[in-house]
Amino acid sequence: MDYYSNQISRLIEEFSCLPGIGAKSAARLAFHLIHMPEADVKRLADTMVEARQKVRYCKVCCTLTDSELCPICSSTQRDHKTVMVVENTRDLAAYEKTGKYNGVYHVLHGAISPMIGIGPEDIKLKELISRLADDVEEVIIATNSSLEGETTAMYISKLIKPIGVKVTRIASGVPVGGDLEYIDEVTLLRALDGRTEL
Ligand code: ZN
Repeated sequence: MDYYSNQISRLIEEFSCLPGIGAKSAARLAFHLIHMPEADVKRLADTMVEARQKVRYCKVCCTLTDSELCPICSSTQRDHKTVMVVENTRDLAAYEKTGKYNGVYHVLHGAISPMIGIGPEDIKLKELISRLADDVEEVIIATNSSLEGETTAMYISKLIKPIGVKVTRIASGVPVGGDLEYIDEVTLLRALDGRTEL
C-alpha cells in the first residue's frame, strides 16, 4: 500500500539506503526536503554531486582530499619520517583534532576481515609499503582495537619489520572495539605516547 506519491516514496527509499538512517528518519528527511526552499535543495544536491566528483585519494597517504596531495602531505612543517597508519579519514581527523601529532598519516580505508572477505589487497596496503622506500623511520599502527584492527596491525608489522623500519602499536588505552573517532583526546594522546614497539 503506497501512502505517498511516487516521488516521495522514491526519496524515502534513497534516504533509507544511507548508513544509520532507518525508515522513520528517511521519511522525516524526505518531508523536510519537500518543504525546503527550492534553492536550498539545489545547493544541497550540487554540493553532494560536487563532493563526489572532486574528492579523491591523496597520492601519498590515500586520505580523502580535493587536490593531488593533501594539506598534511604537502606541509613542510610535518615530520615525514613518522607515519601513522589509520583505518579511515575520520580516524585521521580525530588525531588531527588533538593538535599534538606532528607526523604524517597513511589511510588504509578499511581493515582486514576474513569473516566478510576483506583481504590485504582490498585496503591501501601496497601504497603504504611503497612509501617506506622514502626515508621513513617509524610506522605507528593506530588501527582500532577491534578484532579486524588487531589482525591488520599484526599483518602490517609482519610485512614491515623485515624491511627494517621501526613498527609501533598505539597503547591499549583505547577500549576494545572502540572506534578511534569517538574517543576523547586525552585517551588518544595517552595511547599514542604509550605506544610499544612490535
Ligand atoms: Zn596525504
